[in-house]
Amino acid sequence: MTDEQRPQTPEDPRGRLEEKILTDHARLGPDDTFRFACHPGVSCFNKCCSDVNIFLSPYDVLRLKRRLGMTSSDFLDKYALLPVQKDMKTPVVMLRMNDDEVRTCPFLTDGGCGIYSDRPWPCRMYPLGLAAQKDTPDGWRGDRFYFLLQEEGCRGFEESHQWTVREWLDDQGIDEYDEWGEAYKELTLHEFFADGGVLSPQKMHMLFTACYDLEKFREFVFDSTLLQRFDVDEDFVEEMRHDDEALLRFAFLWLRFSLFGEPTVKAKADVVDAFKGSLDKREVFRSQPATARDEDKA
Ligand code: SF4
Ligand code: SF4
Repeated sequence: MTDEQRPQTPEDPRGRLEEKILTDHARLGPDDTFRFACHPGVSCFNKCCSDVNIFLSPYDVLRLKRRLGMTSSDFLDKYALLPVQKDMKTPVVMLRMNDDEVRTCPFLTDGGCGIYSDRPWPCRMYPLGLAAQKDTPDGWRGDRFYFLLQEEGCRGFEESHQWTVREWLDDQGIDEYDEWGEAYKELTLHEFFADGGVLSPQKMHMLFTACYDLEKFREFVFDSTLLQRFDVDEDFVEEMRHDDEALLRFAFLWLRFSLFGEPTVKAKADVVDAFKGSLDKREVFRSQPATARDEDKA
């Protein structure tokens, strides 16, 4: 589990890292094979779950906070680091290691990972890393490919079990995480940023809240005038009251609309009619306030 599994990190500009990956690692396709197994019988068992940089996606946090029976806010307070860096375009959330000598992962137990079925994406992927070929000239992401990471001291490569890349990804339940990851990249790799756009602190806060602090975003959705102003399917609204996945799906759509002006959410016809001719259209389609509290003031 290294930074190489997250090709886009604030410390490691994507281009440079991908170049290094291309030089240092063979590219693997879905049918390429490797030998690996990790189980309590390996002499290095549990040794790699300390002092690791694990970047958490919104879906990682959703799964973890639910697994632990916590609110997102409580989870973030207790288990996350939110590094702030110059030129940061989108929020960064990392798993906070324990404050002990070796910086042990808070979820490590003698029997292995204590939250195994909800472990974050990087922990699932290892020993595979994921990278992309150079972006196309119009700024879109290039083809993805995999490569094998071999952490020093990892004895898993001495085991006889052979996998294809596809088998490994299936076994680790990666597809579900990748679907959410792709949806999140629609935000974080948006052409707005490629064109040099910078989010205001308020919008950055909204991006963070909607993606990572679902209970607060739910308050915003249900306690503000948002649902009176925008056309959202009634069944979907009901689903969002209780279902975090539905709410996160809406958060992504809402953010694409409110941060980048994409037509992913539609204003209600009567709202548009009421303002037709009297107000600038931007008033009707205005970006949402940074927080639910601000919305209440409006
Ligand atoms: S979440 Fe689990 S697999 Fe990942 S570092 Fe922590 S203990 Fe290890
Ligand atoms: S170092 Fe490798 S084999 Fe050992 S516990 Fe970690 S992943 Fe498993």
